[in-house]
Amino acid sequence: DTRGEIILSARDLTKRFAGFVAVNGVNLNVERGTIHALIGPNGAGKTTCFNLLTKFLQPSSGTIHFNGRNITNLPSADIARLGVVRSFQISAVFPRMSVTDNVRIALQRRRGDSFDFWRSQSVLSAFDDEALRRVDEVGLSEFAHVMAGDLSYGRKRALEIATTLALEPEMMLLDEPMAGMAQEDVTRISALIRKISANRTILMVEHNLSVVADLSDRITVLARGEVLAEGSYDEVSRHPGVVEAYIGA
Ligand code: ADP
Repeated sequence: DTRGEIILSARDLTKRFAGFVAVNGVNLNVERGTIHALIGPNGAGKTTCFNLLTKFLQPSSGTIHFNGRNITNLPSADIARLGVVRSFQISAVFPRMSVTDNVRIALQRRRGDSFDFWRSQSVLSAFDDEALRRVDEVGLSEFAHVMAGDLSYGRKRALEIATTLALEPEMMLLDEPMAGMAQEDVTRISALIRKISANRTILMVEHNLSVVADLSDRITVLARGEVLAEGSYDEVSRHPGVVEAYIGA
């Protein structure tokens, strides 16, 4: 049993932008197999933390370890190859291709091939079974041949998750997975996140606190670039500093 093991940790993570400290000495421990939420008011440093953990930004100081390995100085692509994958926005989905073809392309990318449209039909057919399995995994079987651009907003997010899962990440970073969603889609994507967390670790930034309460095993609250509280939803929501940070006192 590997539960309880730390899969991702940040020590004293700091990011300065021209004198402004956006992330200040953040310590973060994410346990394997958990759903861990990063919350906090606007400007708290959540997005910057995500960018540091996936090396879209270089930390000013501090260290990041994944599976015990120091990844602080690795480029983004290497971190993804090690198994830490960030979900991208819907714009990463090709709107004029079918749901299944979008997943096929992601599977082809996993092999490190560049996408070649002219070769694509024959090459992509090699991924048929796995693509359909991934489409099914995110509940889009009945939309397998629908053009991605014709999907509802929530289903596009599900497709985006499928293309991320195609990379077989050990850990997924989800940036506001419920942003802009109607309640029906929130319910559907919550169930999907819970399902994919069965054999993966998830770190998510999410503003919808009822989703955070429902899904998270552990929560880190950031405010003004620093960790304000950490614990279960009940623990952090009782923390006076957290209440204050949210009402802007
Ligand atoms: P959150 O995601 O919690 O809303 P951010 O990480 O986006 O917060 O931003 C934290 C702070 O850092 C904000 O005050 C923001 O204006 C600042 N910031 C973010 N990115 C940059 C940047 N590239 N240059 C300067 N300041 C930035």
